Amino acid sequence: MRGLCLAGSGAAGVPRAGRAGAGSAGAGPGWRWLCLRLGPEPLPAAVTGGGLPSPNFGERRGGVLPSLVVIHYTAMESCAAARARLCDPQAEVSAHWLISRHGEAEALVDEAHRAWHAGAGAWAGLGDVNSHSIGIELDNRGAEPFAAPQMRALEGLLADIMARWSIPPHRVIGHSDMAPARKSDPGPRFDWQGLARQGLSVWPETAPDLSGDVSAPDFVASARRFGYPDHPSEILLRAFRLRFRPGASGPLTAVETAMAANLALRFGVDGPSAAA
Ligand SMILES: [Zn+2]
Repeated sequence: MRGLCLAGSGAAGVPRAGRAGAGSAGAGPGWRWLCLRLGPEPLPAAVTGGGLPSPNFGERRGGVLPSLVVIHYTAMESCAAARARLCDPQAEVSAHWLISRHGEAEALVDEAHRAWHAGAGAWAGLGDVNSHSIGIELDNRGAEPFAAPQMRALEGLLADIMARWSIPPHRVIGHSDMAPARKSDPGPRFDWQGLARQGLSVWPETAPDLSGDVSAPDFVASARRFGYPDHPSEILLRAFRLRFRPGASGPLTAVETAMAANLALRFGVDGPSAAA
């Protein structure tokens, strides 16, 4: 896969090289040279839709700009197999980026276009998540740790995407967040807290206090306000734990109730960061 997506991109990439580099601190070398031609400005006709390997994309409906990033794992036996599927017109699935466990990031679909990674679901009241998001697939079968070079590449890529499209940290989500009833990726091994420490996602600011209130209605209301779509409390709890309390099980506790309340307060539709 190395180098494929740069073919023919030279002229379009030059004006964006500076800004792509600005978000690259700490990133591995694998992704950086692949980001040069992507950005919120209209791309020259010669490169829109052409040059990148996946044919599985369309226009963003309503002409919306991406305001979410959705993180996935591929759940396939190899990065090459995942790449083949994401580029297979028969499969009708794709993502904007695929990151190998060695830290190589490849652009498969132009960020200006609507890739087909999210499917049915919603976040923060937005349906048609494909039109509103950039999708990143991580080569991982789902049960193993995410390799350090892969995470470093993801961090660099995320910083760059968030800067270029003005996407705030609370709008970087997992597939299981926007489709809690049917998806589990990127799963309990994914380090959301590490991303949050770098300002690339968010994490609750609350002490693990088991003596507080346990309220399923309050938990659901907070989770919904944070962004989760409408589902019963047990489905939302499963998705919430995948992301914020990996390994936790059993009935809802005061910890999740407080964590969700904190996230809703800070990032909910009526919260201080809602307009960010
Ligand atoms: Zn997924």
